[in-house]
Amino acid sequence: MPRAKRQKVRSAQRMATTMAVVIVRDFRDGVIGSKFAYEGCFIAELRSSLCLAGWPWPVADQAARNVVAEALRLARASRPTWAEGQRAFVGVEVKDSVCRQCGVGLRERQVHYCSNRCAKAWNAAFNAEAA
Ligand SMILES: [Zn+2]
Repeated sequence: MPRAKRQKVRSAQRMATTMAVVIVRDFRDGVIGSKFAYEGCFIAELRSSLCLAGWPWPVADQAARNVVAEALRLARASRPTWAEGQRAFVGVEVKDSVCRQCGVGLRERQVHYCSNRCAKAWNAAFNAEAA
C-alpha cells in the first residue's frame, strides 16, 4: 500500500475511533438519547471539511459516510427495526379523530380508519410510497 494511501486509512480509522469515543461517552452520560444522534452532524461536518480540501462532493460524501459508519460500528450502535420504530411497539397508540384515508369522523371504537376498505387503501398507498 502506498504511503499516502496508508496515511489516509490510518487517518480515517483515527477519526472513526474519536467519533466512537464521543458517541459512547455522550450516550453513557445521557447527553444523547441515541447512539445515532450525531450521525448526520458528523457526516455533514466531515463532508464539508473534505469538500473544502478540494474533494468532489460525491466522493467526500461517501468517504464521510464510511467513516461515520465505522464509528457507529465501533460504538456498537444498532438500528431499531422498522417494527421497533412504530408507536404500537412501545404501546403508544394515538387515536385519530378522522379517517386517515377519507377524512370522515371516526366512531368511538375506530382508531385510524372508518372501514377496512379505507385501511387497505391507505396501507396500499403507504407501501407504494415506501417501495
Ligand atoms: Zn375512511
